[in-house]
Amino acid sequence: MSVVIETEEHKALREAVAALGRRYGRAYVTKALEEGKGPEELWNEAGKLGYLGVSLPEEYGGGGGGIYELSLVLEELGAAGCPLLLLVVSPAICGTIIARFGTDEQKREWLPGLADGSKIMSFGITEPDAGSNSHRITTTARWEAGGTSRSSGAESGGQWVLNGRKVFISGVDISDATLIVGRTEDARTGRLKPALFIVPRDTPGFHRTMLDMDLAAAEKQFELVLEDVRLPADALVGDEDAGLLQLFAGLNPERVMTAAFAVGMARHALTAAIGYAKERQVWKTPIGAHQAIQHPLAVAHIEVETAKLMMQKAAHLCDAGDDLAAGEAANMAKYAAGEACVKAVDTAVHTLGGNGLTKEFGLASLVNASRVARIAPVSREMILNFVSHQTLGLPKSY
Ligand SMILES: Cc1cc2nc3c(=O)[nH]c(=O)nc-3n(C[C@H](O)[C@H](O)[C@H](O)COP(=O)(O)OP(=O)(O)OC[C@H]3O[C@@H](n4cnc5c(N)ncnc54)[C@H](O)[C@@H]3O)c2cc1C
Repeated sequence: MSVVIETEEHKALREAVAALGRRYGRAYVTKALEEGKGPEELWNEAGKLGYLGVSLPEEYGGGGGGIYELSLVLEELGAAGCPLLLLVVSPAICGTIIARFGTDEQKREWLPGLADGSKIMSFGITEPDAGSNSHRITTTARWEAGGTSRSSGAESGGQWVLNGRKVFISGVDISDATLIVGRTEDARTGRLKPALFIVPRDTPGFHRTMLDMDLAAAEKQFELVLEDVRLPADALVGDEDAGLLQLFAGLNPERVMTAAFAVGMARHALTAAIGYAKERQVWKTPIGAHQAIQHPLAVAHIEVETAKLMMQKAAHLCDAGDDLAAGEAANMAKYAAGEACVKAVDTAVHTLGGNGLTKEFGLASLVNASRVARIAPVSREMILNFVSHQTLGLPKSY
């Protein structure tokens, strides 16, 4: 397994995505923000070029690659200053889950669109009263029988009825549907178990309210209320009894992709700071000649590269289908990349002095944005808990 030396195909993909990113750049995101728009043009072009679908199966219009290739795409767009946050959810979580566990009909309906970007799917697990503790989610799916079995429910009028609330769900306004994590009742034990449902955006009872986030990201977050949302039998993805397994298959790619988001942003901030440090002169030499400026930049660079290596290992494990090992590596990669990103952005802002806080240089807004990688989709502390309990075998306090 080579994680350091990339194939010629990888290098070519990296260069091609970087070139697309450079054509749009940070200025594109800044303009989209000013106009209250999403990054549609970049999304559509990246879709046409096959970059959004690199990880999805070829028979459904994808590139036949894996999360390694998809993370490379997000990293390079981020390094150019124009990350596409919805890559984390639409192809990486939803695409992976549908490709692995969806019915043939669900694959035919969703994968070609997710691959070329003409369809977008967001992902909703977080709830107001169950943030870090996803075992506590209460969005419930009840089967309302129409006089016949579940498998033929669509024809007979049987349907799922969903009720609950979600919060911080990204991109619901521009998504054709949201993959909602709900719970169904186990017929034997009466206990609630997770299950995944495709909820089209305009389904009656599916209400969204935009959250007033203080974030310089073109993608918006929403609070959702599901009020007697009625769905046909085939809205359920995969097996009602294997929801947890299916969920994990999507959450490992999510963590790898968040690491890619963080590595890309960190590279973007460091490139800007290094360029500035080489030019800016207030004494005899450029400020970049002072070790107080260059050492923090060197440390940040080393930490970003180290995190990237862990991200690449996690991506390889995901693509090899080793979900258990991928889970541990993806969590560690997300932690390392989130921390490296926060530090790199902080260092970059400081390198620019007063200009670090001007809109013209565009780094100050990354201070908030970099924290996303520390908080979502699973916080720094929950990863430390995971490693403490699962890897180190230490006892649990909660
Ligand atoms: C920009 C953005 C986009 C998002 N997009 C999505 C999305 O598309 N879909 C989706 O489902 N969710 C999304 N989220 C939600 C995100 O996954 C949650 O914010 C995250 O899981 C943390 O949950 P919380 O915000 O409720 O924090 P809380 O769970 O309330 O935690 C608050 C603090 O307490 C700490 N904490 C909690 N429990 C423990 C413990 N046992 N030990 C130590 N510390 C603890 C946490 O680490 C954190 O620092 C998004 C969030 C953001 C900020």
